[in-house]
Amino acid sequence: MSDSQVLPEKARIAIIGGGIIGTSVAYHLAKRGIKDVILIERKQLTCGTTWHAAGLVSLLWPTPTLTNLAKYSHELYARLEEETGQATGYRRVGSISLARTEARLEEIKRTSSMAKVFGVESEMIDNTRLAELYPGINTDGILGALYTPDDGQTNPIDTTMALAKGARMNGVKIFENTVMEELLTKDNVITGIRTDKGKVEVDQVILCGGMWTRELAKTVGVQLPIYACEHSYIVTEEMPGLTQRPVLRDYDRGLYFKEDAGKMLVGWFEDNAIGLSMDRIADDFCFDQFPCDQDHVEPYVMGSMDTFPQLETTGIRTWFNGPESFTNDNLHILGPTSEIDKLFIAAGMNSKGIGAGGGVGKIMADWMIDGYPSGDVSECDIRRHHPAQQHEDYVAERIPEVLGHTYAMHWPFYQYDSARDQIHSPLHAQLSAAGACFGEVCGHERANWFANPGQQAKYEYSYKKPNWFNNTKQEHMAMREGVGMYDMSSFGKFEVSGPAAAKNLQYICAGNIDVPVGKVVYTHFLNARGGIEADVTVVRTAETTYWVITGISSHSRDWWHLNHRLIDDVLLQDISMNFGGLAIQGPLSRQLLQKVTDTDLSNKAFPFATGKLVDLAGVRMWMQRLSYVGELGWELFVPAQHTATVYHALHQAGEEFGLRNVGMHAVNSARMEKGFVHWGHDVGPEDNLFEAGLSWAAKPNAGSFIGINGFKEQAAANGTERRLVQFKLDDPEAMLFHNEPIVMNGEIVGYLTSGMYGHAVGSAIGMGYVNSPNLSPIRLSKATFEIEIALKRYSAQASLQGFYDPKGLRPKG
Ligand SMILES: Cc1cc2nc3c(=O)[nH]c(=O)nc-3n(C[C@H](O)[C@H](O)[C@H](O)COP(=O)(O)OP(=O)(O)OC[C@H]3O[C@@H](n4cnc5c(N)ncnc54)[C@H](O)[C@@H]3O)c2cc1C
Repeated sequence: MSDSQVLPEKARIAIIGGGIIGTSVAYHLAKRGIKDVILIERKQLTCGTTWHAAGLVSLLWPTPTLTNLAKYSHELYARLEEETGQATGYRRVGSISLARTEARLEEIKRTSSMAKVFGVESEMIDNTRLAELYPGINTDGILGALYTPDDGQTNPIDTTMALAKGARMNGVKIFENTVMEELLTKDNVITGIRTDKGKVEVDQVILCGGMWTRELAKTVGVQLPIYACEHSYIVTEEMPGLTQRPVLRDYDRGLYFKEDAGKMLVGWFEDNAIGLSMDRIADDFCFDQFPCDQDHVEPYVMGSMDTFPQLETTGIRTWFNGPESFTNDNLHILGPTSEIDKLFIAAGMNSKGIGAGGGVGKIMADWMIDGYPSGDVSECDIRRHHPAQQHEDYVAERIPEVLGHTYAMHWPFYQYDSARDQIHSPLHAQLSAAGACFGEVCGHERANWFANPGQQAKYEYSYKKPNWFNNTKQEHMAMREGVGMYDMSSFGKFEVSGPAAAKNLQYICAGNIDVPVGKVVYTHFLNARGGIEADVTVVRTAETTYWVITGISSHSRDWWHLNHRLIDDVLLQDISMNFGGLAIQGPLSRQLLQKVTDTDLSNKAFPFATGKLVDLAGVRMWMQRLSYVGELGWELFVPAQHTATVYHALHQAGEEFGLRNVGMHAVNSARMEKGFVHWGHDVGPEDNLFEAGLSWAAKPNAGSFIGINGFKEQAAANGTERRLVQFKLDDPEAMLFHNEPIVMNGEIVGYLTSGMYGHAVGSAIGMGYVNSPNLSPIRLSKATFEIEIALKRYSAQASLQGFYDPKGLRPKG
């Protein structure tokens, strides 16, 4: 088909990989009128992973981002045949998800609640209805099921061919049997590609190479946490009487069932998955497969017979085993790379590539054309990872566990077991000895809560109050009533120095950072549209030196922003690992700290939002008066080698004040009581400062900054279409985690972006955007609010401010 074509010498965009992702990007670029696009496929379209996918196109996924991508795919696949004349095999057959445990029942009910936010119809069904919809099912042990009538399945090859046809019809040139051999760069910017058929000069490249993407990116120094695993299914002989029926998911057995032209396809996500290093993928891999280890998959095949007994008497025609690539957190990897400009990635589809393909193609095409994605995909952004998560050993160990997690319970606060202990805080041993139960974020082990003597520091997962509920309550209340200390060593710390540091940062930050030495500023980086790209603290530590401090999950992304935006005469350094961090918070923090330092900590001598170099416990350090939990408190940035010494000294001095170790769960609940946002959850590139209630932090009259035009337009609108609102449940027993729908006057108007228990206010709290124009305290007081948890609605108080110390007096006392 394409062999006869000659590669052009130049093109605007090169897409590498002709699976569903590459063809979908091509289709969407072409639909936006970008015709000067080439797609390079080493063998034939679909020959990698796409051809053998089961073809389930699930509408509902555990996160809003994945659900949005899938929702768009459905809309696209439904119209693609009419548009291109190429059949896709897409059918809205519906799907049924089974629950065999009470916890799973709660999970699918929560999914059903979330479905309403996206306008996806779903209903809980009993076993009688289940047997009607799925004749032949063994309903023993099934506690309930979720029916999603609009869910679908498609033919992955035909759908990919339809996307390719649509792309060609609109001008894209597709080159099969053409291997991309080298990414050409100059000064870390893409300049072209070299293939086995010649060189092409291009402006942008997107790697959509499925499991090959990690190796391709590595050649230009871009490391990706992608790893392939074996993934298998069986297809039976024809089953008498088997006709079109919904897709069936038996999560508790890790199984899915799809009727396929009178045969049954049964697949699974096993919890002991087999990883697949690239040396097992032959150079000429093309529509290949691996032998299926029947012993390994036997428990799943046996389980499927119990779910659908007709399988016991039906022969198996195909034992299929193919490779698919997964990522370390089961989320795709999308976006521009930090290391090489004009190089984009869309890979790591975690067995959702067919379902997500349409949405991913659109988002990536828009991103490449506009410079930003046409929807919030921050949780899939390539810049969410830490370098420690990209080593081969890390991905080889972690990623098989991720595959098994696909159908496992999506417990709140779930922690992976594998590939742990990548990065330790300087206090790890001390915190561990104090009973810390650790959780991992971006490879960093962080103390999430502290076990009491005799209690195991281990999570028992639950949708109810968890086993660590009282531990966190004690830690939380120590900060509210006495004093608590938490380890903030994992926080990202960047030093910006040089004569032009103030000028540069003043342009990057929306807030006024041209402040006296020692002043701490809470500020944001905005994008051109006024969306929130970062939520950071900037402190002027010397006339020409600033520190930018950020949360660990934003570390790589904020570094990317600074690195790309700082223009002249400044030195940017990542000093994160040089300093440990300790936060001492609570009404007794001043008394405690005054015992170990001669620096005057009085309100007058050390006001709120200021910092200085101090000697404390014999160690010179940067100390600043700030609080993410809304209390009187200080943050200490201590040279890493002395952090443990300071920690011990503080504990000794703190004994008389009842100083408690505090974990990150208590910090999270305390910041939510205050209504403080967390970037990536409560604010992101698609949210603006007015919607988030943070416009006060910007400086439109103190010079220009990135995003000022967007900011001014939003200001001129004199009101918002949506607004971040704080909620507090009336029922003290119910639990909120996030993603629960917000109901205003009986209508769903949004969902919670954060949820936690507020121990000082005595019930679960949450925050989320309410899609209703010009919300004011008066309008809130006149409306009724509920939060829907697992299909049950709970009455809630709503406020534009946090429920704890709304006037913010406590940190300033
Ligand atoms: C058994 C099984 C069942 C599945 N079932 C489902 C399902 O029901 N629903 C679902 O949504 N997903 C499913 N998946 C996952 C889905 O198949 C993948 O997520 C999807 O196909 C990935 O598409 P891709 O385009 O990223 O990768 P691929 O299809 O692998 O495409 C990448 C392409 O890049 C090409 N390439 C690589 N290197 C180069 C180079 N140097 N030069 C040129 N070309 C290159 C390759 O030849 C390949 O064609 C399943 C996967 C498996 C294994």
